[in-house]
Amino acid sequence: MSVSMPSFLNCISDDDFAHYEVDDYQKCVAKWCSGCGDFGALNATKRLLAKEQLQPENTVFVSGIGCSSRFPHYVNSYGFHGIHGRALPIATGVKLTRPELDVFVVMGDGDCCSIGTAHWIHAIRYNMDMTVLLLDNNIYGLTKKQTSPTTPIGFSTNTMPRGSYLPPLNPLTATLGVSNASFVAQTADWIPAHMYATLQAAYEHKGFSFVRILQRCPKFTPDVFTDAVKNPDNNELLVHENGIDAPGLEKLFKNRIIHDPKDLDGGRHYAEVENRVRLGLFYRNGELPCYEDTREVVSVTAAEKIQKINTEFDRYAV
Ligand code: SF4
Repeated sequence: MSVSMPSFLNCISDDDFAHYEVDDYQKCVAKWCSGCGDFGALNATKRLLAKEQLQPENTVFVSGIGCSSRFPHYVNSYGFHGIHGRALPIATGVKLTRPELDVFVVMGDGDCCSIGTAHWIHAIRYNMDMTVLLLDNNIYGLTKKQTSPTTPIGFSTNTMPRGSYLPPLNPLTATLGVSNASFVAQTADWIPAHMYATLQAAYEHKGFSFVRILQRCPKFTPDVFTDAVKNPDNNELLVHENGIDAPGLEKLFKNRIIHDPKDLDGGRHYAEVENRVRLGLFYRNGELPCYEDTREVVSVTAAEKIQKINTEFDRYAV
């Protein structure tokens, strides 16, 4: 586990940075395999940070463990490279104590949908205002090709050499099934314009914005998205005037479904697809309460904290 601070803060005063360019948000060279979809997600995220001119000292990236969880090392902001499956409780604590910060969470499919599942479910329910990226490559990449909850049935891995024998978990329908889910979208690393527009919409949403990014892993799952990458006709875009606005994709991606993201049942229905890739905004409800807005964080001094702890200890004295 490690905590990082923006390198801007080491030696430069606030006045030196009236404006941030995209590259100002890059902390160091990212070390992923050549062709890894994580690069595209990082680029789209940096574009968003520059577009919104987010202050590095007021921005936090929290991750768990996995290839994509190296994100906080590469973004020039505060960062918390946490514990496997525990990115969301860490982010929840950050947001609850510092609600004015912009909080981003980056998880992989093994991280979020296996060991972190209980935290994922309850974080959806808490609906705290944060942008959550699930980089889903259908495999545990960092630990060299183990079956994850989203690995396709029949896919051979080091832990299931005869092929995964369970149907994969669908992170979209799982999220949409939790009460208080407020923003659920899916995009793909091979369509940068759509990914950027999706992150923009997620950031603008007040609440828990869950974005599943279909992420290519040329090392261990090189073919799982090949049909969609090579043939745009194998991608379907959910479109609506209230949905994801990604101009310029009309000519290439002709398969379109008009879906109003206010329609939860429709979103659940369209999230069920199995044999093709469906991208867009499945559901958005900006009216649901955010947990941090329902809680009053009372600041207390260190002496008051000690007094309260001693009072509690006294209750159990024998
Ligand atoms: Fe990316 Fe896969 Fe390499 Fe990990 S193993 S860095 S997910 S290509």
